[in-house]
Amino acid sequence: MALQALRVLVDMDGVLADFEGGFLKKFRARYPDKPYIALEDRRGFWVSEQYGRLAAELSEKAISIWESKNFFIELDPLPGAVEAVNILPTAELFVEVPGLPMLTIPFALQYAWVEKHFGPEFLEQIVLTRDKTVVSADLLIDDRPDIIGAEVNPSWEHVLFTACHNKHLQLEPPRRRLQSWSDDWRAILDSKRLRERVEG
Ligand SMILES: [Mg+2]
Repeated sequence: MALQALRVLVDMDGVLADFEGGFLKKFRARYPDKPYIALEDRRGFWVSEQYGRLAAELSEKAISIWESKNFFIELDPLPGAVEAVNILPTAELFVEVPGLPMLTIPFALQYAWVEKHFGPEFLEQIVLTRDKTVVSADLLIDDRPDIIGAEVNPSWEHVLFTACHNKHLQLEPPRRRLQSWSDDWRAILDSKRLRERVEG
């Protein structure tokens, strides 16, 4: 019996691209005299909110970092991300959803990053959406803990990709994590295939 093909949505920032690491490096280079938040102290999804709590002026300064030229294209891939995507047999899709503060950032910058690391053919795998809940898939791998939108019951199972800002969160079962790309993502895909076969 052939294995069922899955549709896996993979988020870009914080899952494939090292947004947090790239941000901190550039923030410290640009504002060497300002306080900063070490990665192990990051809490909450929005970098600019936590910086704003540190000092009001820092929220805008944080935003200026990812709005600066070349910020996205210079992000490093997270360890193992490129290798995983290249062997994911069913990585049919790729999602990048800019959050509200990121509406000012042209999508082309994210396209360029994808092309740089996965090649021009992979551009076909991109799904651009402001609302991930309306995209249909089996799995969504994303570092944002709360993914809400117009669809109250999304078709996908959200697997939380562990990041500095979410690692302290306790997930309610049956929610699960992928700790990194060296974690067993194959087992998650396989369990999904089995479940679909049983339920289907
Ligand atoms: Mg993300």
